[in-house]
Amino acid sequence: MQCPYCLTEDTKVLETRENDNSTRRRRECLKCEKRFTTYERVESLDITVIKKNGSKESFDREKFKRSLLKACEKRPVTLEVIDKNVDKLETKLRSLNSTEINSKFLGQIAMRALKNIDNVAYIRFASIYKEFEDVGDYEKEIIKIKGVIKNERTTNSNTKK
Ligand SMILES: [Zn+2]
Repeated sequence: MQCPYCLTEDTKVLETRENDNSTRRRRECLKCEKRFTTYERVESLDITVIKKNGSKESFDREKFKRSLLKACEKRPVTLEVIDKNVDKLETKLRSLNSTEINSKFLGQIAMRALKNIDNVAYIRFASIYKEFEDVGDYEKEIIKIKGVIKNERTTNSNTKK
């Protein structure tokens, strides 16, 4: 394993933790002595997502994670919590008989997860979910909603003065 700081190949493992879908290793570089963490996971989860318009795309863990992260932006939610929920989703997808899922189903799972994580994140996600029903499109919409929230705040603080 290459050290991300000095790029040497000599690193040692300090700690290994097995999670459901991944293995987390704390490592230390033998040269620069900096520490870093690596995650190993099964990469080829061959799930096809069928979008509302009928088009298909491969399930993309990172994309799904990004949409959750966007919804949780500026909220007291840790990356670890998000990762755990994405892991949970992957476990669920693996347990399905089908290798094809609807984007609608994916959105519902995301909403259920967010409901347990953070109310504001859930509302952000849910309010646009009804219109789009496609996780990929959420990112853009959340940016828009954030703009609206920001404007409202400005208006409120103005009226207080
Ligand atoms: Zn190093």
